[in-house]
Amino acid sequence: MKKGKKLYEGKAKILYAAPEKGFAIQHFKDDATAFNNLKKSTIEGKGILNNRISEHILSSLNHIGIETHLVKRINMREQLVKLVEIIPIEFIVRNIASGSLTKRLGIEEGTVLEKPLLEFCYKNDSLEDPLIAREHIYAFNYCDMATLDRITKKCYRINDFLQGMFKAIEIKLVDFKLEFGLTKLEEDGSPVVKILIADEISPDTCRLWDATTDKKLDKDIFRKDLGNLIEGYQEIARRLGILHEQSNISPIKFTKPTAVKIKKK
Ligand code: 5GP
Repeated sequence: MKKGKKLYEGKAKILYAAPEKGFAIQHFKDDATAFNNLKKSTIEGKGILNNRISEHILSSLNHIGIETHLVKRINMREQLVKLVEIIPIEFIVRNIASGSLTKRLGIEEGTVLEKPLLEFCYKNDSLEDPLIAREHIYAFNYCDMATLDRITKKCYRINDFLQGMFKAIEIKLVDFKLEFGLTKLEEDGSPVVKILIADEISPDTCRLWDATTDKKLDKDIFRKDLGNLIEGYQEIARRLGILHEQSNISPIKFTKPTAVKIKKK
């Protein structure tokens, strides 16, 4: 598929215009950044693994009726996605205390939360994605009340589904970040605004621990210099059943892509 002009370049991905209006091509880079770009590296194969893992997770969500921007994976590094208007909020769902929650409130790392905790951060790199309250969202019109209520429900539902999915492969879903976008469609002749999961869901955006050993299999390997990031991501792909046993980074051998059924709008 021929890529059009570059629409946006982020830390780990590039978005290009797709041949058809309303769609984009999302390209996964090998770049890794942490601590708001203070730590940077290029890790060969990371983009390929995230493309494949995110495809698997987003298409599973599409299948159970939680709509995402993913249309299909095009190649090793690219996906065809629906173009959406991104809501400038990062939705963080936490099941176990880790990362910024432990630092902010002094809660011990690994504390299992009584129920999932949803946090909102304003998506703004120069402000370091600050934590915000629902009231900030309304005050500065980042998202309307009805949309925020619908997204809140979706976040808990996505958490239930993903927790189950990872539990089945002996992985604890510690926390994760979601981004949502809006797209306007016509349904029965009238305009409808759809809320779609955007961006990616991958070991770059989730904390994933081995259920028995609590070994970190996610981007914390890079953030905290815990070893080989690719080995962690490959382990996740292998357990999800999308990576052949014993493959090294080059070449990464994946099982055949699963057919993605797109619901007719
Ligand atoms: P924390 O707030 O503890 O740093 O992050 C909570 C969760 O959200 C972690 O799984 C982390 O990977 C994810 N997360 C939060 N902000 C970002 C971000 O800007 N980029 C990425 N890739 N993940 C994020």
